[in-house]
Amino acid sequence: MKYVYFFGSAKSEGNSSMKNILGGKGANLAEMSNLGIPVPAGMTVSTEVCDSYYKNGKKLPKEVMQAVFATLEKLERDMDKKFGGKQNPLLLSIRSGARVSMPGMMDTVLNLGLNADTLQGLIQASGNERFAYDSYRRFIQMFSDVVLEIDHDLFEHALEHKKQVRGFKQDIELTASDLKELVNEYLSIVKKESGANFPSDPKKQLELAIGAVFSSWNTARAVKYRELNDIPHDIGTAVTIQSMVFGNLGETSGTGVCFTRNPSTGENKFYGEFLMNAQGEDVVAGIRTPVPITELQKVMPAAYHQLVQIYKKLEKHYRDMQDIEFTIENRKLYLLQTRNGKRTAAAAVRIAVEMVKEKMISTTEAILRVSPESLDQLLHPTIDPSQKKEVLARGLPASPGAAVGEIVFSAAEAEEVAKSGRKCILLRQETSPEDIGGMAVAQGILTARGGMTSHAAVVARGMGKPCVAGCSDLVIDNKADDTTCVIHGHKLKRGDILTLDGSTGEVILGQCKLKDPGLSKDIGTLMKWADSTRRLKVRTNADTPNDAKKARQFGAEGIGLCRTEHMFFEGERIDHFREMIVANNLEGRKKALSKLLVIQRDDFKGIFEAMEGLPVTIRLLDPPLHEFLPHTEKEIVYLSEKLGISAAALKVKVNSLHEFNPMMGHRGCRFGITFPEIYDMQTQAIIEAAILVHKAGKKVIPEIMIPLVGTVTELKILKDNAIKIANALIKDSKTKITYSIGTMIEIPRAALIADQIAKEAEFFSFGTNDLTQMTFGYSRDDAGNFLKEYIQQGILEKDPFQTLDIGGVGILIEMAGRLGRQTLPSLKLGICGEHGGDPKSIAFFHKVGLNYVSCSPYRVPIARLAAAQAAIKENSANKNTKKIIASKKKKK
Ligand code: ADP
Ligand code: MG
Ligand code: MG
Repeated sequence: MKYVYFFGSAKSEGNSSMKNILGGKGANLAEMSNLGIPVPAGMTVSTEVCDSYYKNGKKLPKEVMQAVFATLEKLERDMDKKFGGKQNPLLLSIRSGARVSMPGMMDTVLNLGLNADTLQGLIQASGNERFAYDSYRRFIQMFSDVVLEIDHDLFEHALEHKKQVRGFKQDIELTASDLKELVNEYLSIVKKESGANFPSDPKKQLELAIGAVFSSWNTARAVKYRELNDIPHDIGTAVTIQSMVFGNLGETSGTGVCFTRNPSTGENKFYGEFLMNAQGEDVVAGIRTPVPITELQKVMPAAYHQLVQIYKKLEKHYRDMQDIEFTIENRKLYLLQTRNGKRTAAAAVRIAVEMVKEKMISTTEAILRVSPESLDQLLHPTIDPSQKKEVLARGLPASPGAAVGEIVFSAAEAEEVAKSGRKCILLRQETSPEDIGGMAVAQGILTARGGMTSHAAVVARGMGKPCVAGCSDLVIDNKADDTTCVIHGHKLKRGDILTLDGSTGEVILGQCKLKDPGLSKDIGTLMKWADSTRRLKVRTNADTPNDAKKARQFGAEGIGLCRTEHMFFEGERIDHFREMIVANNLEGRKKALSKLLVIQRDDFKGIFEAMEGLPVTIRLLDPPLHEFLPHTEKEIVYLSEKLGISAAALKVKVNSLHEFNPMMGHRGCRFGITFPEIYDMQTQAIIEAAILVHKAGKKVIPEIMIPLVGTVTELKILKDNAIKIANALIKDSKTKITYSIGTMIEIPRAALIADQIAKEAEFFSFGTNDLTQMTFGYSRDDAGNFLKEYIQQGILEKDPFQTLDIGGVGILIEMAGRLGRQTLPSLKLGICGEHGGDPKSIAFFHKVGLNYVSCSPYRVPIARLAAAQAAIKENSANKNTKKIIASKKKKK
């Protein structure tokens, strides 16, 4: 087994295709040196060692360190320095890097190899005592934090104290002798906290640091990040050991982070920031506010020019936007990292579309470049420009979108507020990886310090959260008993409402009205490509003409589920409906229903008009009656007065309708059977509305859907009734309207006998919410209590109400579709549960040959893109199989 892979100006042993064993960072460093880009020499310890490390009780196998030391000699030759040498010592950075990038989640140790002896060597070689002590104090601090697990704050306090005593504001003002004192203070902190001297043997330092980086794979924040981003826990990290280059050698040195295109908007313009006389961490940690990258052109034109050449080369080579780290040591430029850059959804779309126009990628690749889920960010509200707003301050527009919520000052508070169902904005001096749990539940993030590439900005963009960073007018006052803040003279406390505009950087007092963004031109282009690629149709779940219109703008190709019961809750409708439910006889019910008929007909008319020319599936009444019953004393008294009956009698009636298990009680087609007049009225309303719209010259395609069917006879009775009514109305109207009647498949029994059901249905629509509920026997409304635990314990991989349980519920769907089409080859198949908007589930629905998915209006573009990706992936899988078959034939 090979443990370590060298990279450097002598031939590298890795390349970018080896991400699985070298991690993204290691693989790309090797690739860059293969491309002739200046990279300090180094080696990467494979991810396979991470596994051995844990299996070996968190100890490095001996052979691994032997291989490391052997390769170290190659590094020394490449850099012409000696590790642990008293003259011109080689210092190392120990870096983490998994197959998938987890920015800032694992640990790094810089300047490793320093001790009292090598320090002298470094002073001599650099002729810069301040630099050497600065490197030493950084090393002690990082090593103590990462390896010795000594509280980071102890060092920070010593540093702050030193600056205070000297009357300095910034680290760089400290002199060589200040830093020398600080080093001694640091060393005694270590002694006091760990009970031992700081390890001085460079080889020992190296071994300990490699182990610590492997250990950082499992820090709480790294584990949380993997959970949030669906990254497997067992892939492990690689460790890259690299020669240090120094950005802190003075004013001819510096360090920076940049993106080949703007990661926030996608604009094709070099973007980034840097700091002179600094080491890498300073830029992201928000210790000083960095300078825009274009300034480098003035400060150091040659290095800037070279950087521009390199970024262009890298983007062309990787055919994607790159996120690059660089360091300049005495005017000489080195690249320290490149990876595909994280970006907002808006940037992802723009970059994908523009790269197609630049002929860098194909439309198929462009479709695959945008995560469907991320489109969600673009479809959500921005601040309505028509209103007055009180802008308190302005920071950097670090991640776009608008957010409204109450102020919280810590990640823990954010999680608490979110748990109670409220919305919050997280205010921090700067964020650190420990904050990600709180960031994930906050509506938006506001920081006082840090630039566009600060932790807060990068993480927020990745999460699609609005973020305003580096708002220097925000002063957070951490008092012992309570935290408050002042923004530009306004004193604010926890719970006060703020609005953030992450696109402009504005921090606004109070709650702003937000508005819908609509689809941008670039999304339109991407959607056009997606539409010509996908096979699945995308419909929407809409109950009102307004929703229908919105969904149509988002590209819906019909309504897959129109729930009629939602129409009964508005205004006086509920009164009519309650009158119908509590009526003691047919006559009483019919009287109430005649009032509802007029209202329903109007609703359907509006929907048919909005969906002109597209199919509209209307589900007949479904939910349990108890949802409509008057509950409170007040409601009962009100209704009884209205109906002219006694409150006591009404109460008796209401009680008689009580059910122990309403979700499995008298609902759906079951009361279609017991109270046929309800479905009769609804069928009449649908067909009359269709006739009206048709007569007005618009094409209507009504589809009547009967819910909760478990036996074929239920369906047959209800279908025959509906046909009788519909046909009579159509005949009388002398119009030619075609309609179809189908059923929801949401009871496992219906799925099992789908071949029989298909004799009576023209379409199936899988109601995956109920189907999941009944297949698992989990009540959707109560499962929250244990599902989280189930997922933590690994009993379930995912919440089956969000992502389809392919291994169980999926089998029912596949089987029911197959059986149904055996009976009726033209049977139309759709899905209208929550899963219709979930990309993973959509891939499955594509695979089993459904005709369409239906989802909420906002998710329609997501579903269109996900359906296109499913089609592309299936195609390439088919091509692969063909290739394999062809090559097998050849061999024969
Ligand atoms: P992360 O994954 O958190 O970005 P990195 O391994 O990239 O961690 O390192 C953290 C910081 O240390 C970066 O800013 C990087 O530029 C800097 N750094 C890493 N290796 C070196 C090196 N060999 N010389 C100088 N700076 C380095
Ligand atoms: Mg990095
Ligand atoms: Mg249902």
